[in-house]
Amino acid sequence: MFLDKMSFDYIIVGGGTAGCVLANRLTEIHNTTVLLIEAGAEPTKDKAYLGTFALHDPHGEQDWNYIAENDGYASQAVKDQAISLIAGKILGGSSQNSYMAYTRGAPGDYDKWESLGNEGWGWKDVLKYFKKSESIDDLEAKPLVCNTGPTNVKMPKWEDRLDVLLKGFEEYGYKTLYDINGYERQGYGTAQFAIDDHYRQDTVHTYLNQIRNRTNFSLQKYTEVVKILINKKKVVTGVEAIVNGKEPITFYARKEVIVSAGAINSPKLLMLSGIGPKQHLKENGIKMKVDSRNVGENLSDTPMVMVPLTGKEGFESFKNNADLILNLNIFPTPVAIGHISVNPTQNSSDYQSHVLPVPSASVIPAIFCSTIFRLDNTICISLAAAGIDKEIIINPLALLHPESKGNVKLNSKNPTGPPIVSLNYFDYNTDDLERHATYIEDYLNVIKTKTFKSFKSQILKLDVKECRHLEFATHEYWKCYALNLATSMWNYSGTCAMGTVVSPRLEVKGVKHLRVADASVMPRPVSGNIGAAVVMIAEKASDMIKDKLHHTEPVYGYSQAAWRYKEMATLAMPCYTWKKTIVVTPNTDRLIRYGWYNA
Ligand SMILES: Cc1cc2nc3c(=O)[nH]c(=O)nc-3n(C[C@H](O)[C@H](O)[C@H](O)COP(=O)(O)OP(=O)(O)OC[C@H]3O[C@@H](n4cnc5c(N)ncnc54)[C@H](O)[C@@H]3O)c2cc1C
Repeated sequence: MFLDKMSFDYIIVGGGTAGCVLANRLTEIHNTTVLLIEAGAEPTKDKAYLGTFALHDPHGEQDWNYIAENDGYASQAVKDQAISLIAGKILGGSSQNSYMAYTRGAPGDYDKWESLGNEGWGWKDVLKYFKKSESIDDLEAKPLVCNTGPTNVKMPKWEDRLDVLLKGFEEYGYKTLYDINGYERQGYGTAQFAIDDHYRQDTVHTYLNQIRNRTNFSLQKYTEVVKILINKKKVVTGVEAIVNGKEPITFYARKEVIVSAGAINSPKLLMLSGIGPKQHLKENGIKMKVDSRNVGENLSDTPMVMVPLTGKEGFESFKNNADLILNLNIFPTPVAIGHISVNPTQNSSDYQSHVLPVPSASVIPAIFCSTIFRLDNTICISLAAAGIDKEIIINPLALLHPESKGNVKLNSKNPTGPPIVSLNYFDYNTDDLERHATYIEDYLNVIKTKTFKSFKSQILKLDVKECRHLEFATHEYWKCYALNLATSMWNYSGTCAMGTVVSPRLEVKGVKHLRVADASVMPRPVSGNIGAAVVMIAEKASDMIKDKLHHTEPVYGYSQAAWRYKEMATLAMPCYTWKKTIVVTPNTDRLIRYGWYNA
């Protein structure tokens, strides 16, 4: 009886961004039980409602509070020379910490995944899962978007404040895009955010809340999984977990365990369970189950460097400081996003700009500089001082496809201890630093346009002590600047990569009944913020798991025929046709009429 209570068909480790999506989709299978295990707590209601960054504290007990290793080389102008690896320890995971900028990445990114041998992950395959997950109702690129997914994406209108900047970028040669996630991706456009009428579209709000009453769903909070149980036949049978910091208990999985603990904790858990590089496991006194040398390797993150320009002079923009209070229902400051490839024929982008015009005498530059980028006080003071009587145009400029790879290693066999994370930004053996400096220079060229000259925009010289010896604004200066100011864009990925650690079906190589589905399976980073791609991965993983059941089981609330109909409608039809001709949300009346609904 006890064993039965603790046994489930599927166990999902990590109720974060991907985990909540999987929980929703797998509990659609009617005769199947699903347990979602989350180390953290339930988010408070105001957390979902405050769709803004300024009031959102990403640190504290709802964070894993991991810190990257100081390599004595990069990021030396960051406070304590230590990059804070923010990652949510809470239901919804890092979708609770996210700034909710919504970018899908470029088609070429996914085609690259496929060309690496990951069949089924090309753009044509993943696009339908983006469509399935999102709902965007104010864009014109109809064939590329849908109105029916759970994630509401909005594009706050800031025409009056962004138009002049977009005009400048266009004058310099970068197109103005209506939809930054549309067919045309190289250029600048108004940012899209997964924030709808105040509500952050974190995956608790979009996927988990809808399924809490499903009888086949169980949720275990404050529970940290410390080991995946693997039997002698290399079959995964369950997990061991610490509930509320007490003695470990065991949960059994009849069908599969799916690890969705994020790009830092997923490889950590695999290694603690004996799946990892043989030598490293041995050093930590862990019995090896599978020698998988790429677990924890290939850590990719996008280094981001804040590049400020001056905007309009005088106090004219001062009144815009009210934005923060008046626009709590959206992302409360104007943002233009640019995805730029210096070689325009590429099908992916080299760098990403988040361009924010900040009013004069605003507190935002100081907050960004000090608490988000965590730069040295001297730098933040020079930034804040420059903004007293003029607008500042802040741009966290990110290197999108760094060749440098870091890794995640165990600190010890103590499961609750932090891992050792090396970001390895600007590895000597790559030209990442050269490229990042070049991209900064490319962006800064915009001040030569008539538009930017019209408001006398200049590069804002910050007091970076590490670069004081270099002539300002030379290539060497920007290399020094990028090297020292680089901080994380929080796009950690790749540590249980498809092709090496997991198969294209996300099954962990060397064992049975174990998958990973989260940011860690990305073999290569994508051109943009990766939250939307993580949701897409979880949607696709859910379908692969359902496929394995051959759809033999009825799906929650539907007969098998009705389910197939819904699947077909969701995945196969172009959304614009779908909107006009067939039912968009499951219409139970219609399903009952045709005998398709299992009431
Ligand atoms: C500060 C910040 C800002 C960001 N801004 C953006 C943005 O604007 N746009 C965007 O697209 N992306 C953004 N991102 C990135 C995006 O949020 C993440 O890439 C994405 O949420 C990762 O999803 P995941 O499912 O891989 O991991 P997570 O969402 O982190 O989920 C992992 C979950 O597993 C749980 N867990 C871990 N280990 C265990 C264990 N052993 N036992 C039980 N539970 C465990 C964790 O507590 C967590 O809930 C941001 C990230 C951060 C941190």
